[in-house]
Amino acid sequence: MARIRLEGVTKAFGAVVAVDTVTLDIEDGEFFALLGPSGCGKTTTLRLIAGLERPTRGRIFIGERDVTELPPQARDVAMVFQDYALYPHMTVLENIGYPLKVRRYAKPEIHRRVREVAEVLQIADLLDRRPGQLSGGQQQRAAVARALVYQPQAFLFDEPLSNLDAKLRLEARSFLKHLQKSLGITTVYVTHDQAEAMALADRIGVMDRGRLLQVGTPLEIYRRPRNTFVATFIGSPPMNLLSGRLHLAESALILTDGQALSVADRVEALRQAFREGERVWLGVRPEHLALADGPGPTHLSARVYAVEPLGVETLVTVQVDEERLTLRLSVDEPPVLREQVWVRVPMERALFFRESGELAL
Ligand code: ATP
Repeated sequence: MARIRLEGVTKAFGAVVAVDTVTLDIEDGEFFALLGPSGCGKTTTLRLIAGLERPTRGRIFIGERDVTELPPQARDVAMVFQDYALYPHMTVLENIGYPLKVRRYAKPEIHRRVREVAEVLQIADLLDRRPGQLSGGQQQRAAVARALVYQPQAFLFDEPLSNLDAKLRLEARSFLKHLQKSLGITTVYVTHDQAEAMALADRIGVMDRGRLLQVGTPLEIYRRPRNTFVATFIGSPPMNLLSGRLHLAESALILTDGQALSVADRVEALRQAFREGERVWLGVRPEHLALADGPGPTHLSARVYAVEPLGVETLVTVQVDEERLTLRLSVDEPPVLREQVWVRVPMERALFFRESGELAL
């Protein structure tokens, strides 16, 4: 087990800066998720840790060792890829035992260790098969077993669940979390799926365009996203954003369509953070919005745009002028399409972002 440290790491491919001055500390035994949209530099960051890429600038440490100049095999980390990369011509046993074979372990020792890890992962009865004869979930476990068999200092996962169907994905997710917690092996997990990152990780690092925007526990990031990018990337459906102008003298936020929301409860703090007349984004999570019976100081008039019953709850999207808001409701009789409704905006829960997108309050 080991901690992993990136110090001002940059990786450029010609003119493309895939990873831009990333500094990051991953704790010993931690499950850390790197989250971001396609092309943000997650995979490159993982490959840098694995030693499959050399940084253009910066240093990488695993445990106490500076591994920046070391080749992958000297870093003692195991990487599990999206497509598992099992060798099709080898049996499951040979696949799992491969890392030991290249390290010149004796055959009986290889067999003993493979059996042991296959038991843990419940694939001991599949050892004679070839990867083509396994289901997606079984292939995934075989790939994890191969990573596990020589007890690396760290696990590096690159979207390992993306080839599984929705049901298997959920099963595999809880299995991975359980396994990681029982083994306590430091894990870096790359995903573009925010729900997966939230569910699995002790901490999440959100990336965009090569930069690490925010690092925190899933709830820290969910509750206090540093900017509107993170706010709308985390959460499903994402955080609602309404644009408006602050009229602090009247304790009001005037929206683009002219509706006014009272910000009286927050006006002192708003005065500290913003200027009179400044443009802001008001952010509020779908579960914090509610329907109201009629007008009120923090109620908005809106029209129902879509209703999506999900079983436990119903997602109701409403239109306010050009903007849409989604409410997560647990009511028996949700409103109907095109109905005019009143939406209560809970000011005590609202976040205020600058026009540039940075969280201010
Ligand atoms: P995805 O989720 O789509 O895999 P990602 O967040 O993992 O995306 P990276 O694969 O790290 O992103 O890529 C980051 C940027 O670097 C992209 O613009 C990509 O095109 C570029 N890039 C990655 N590898 C190379 C390479 N070997 N040569 C040139 N450009 C590259």
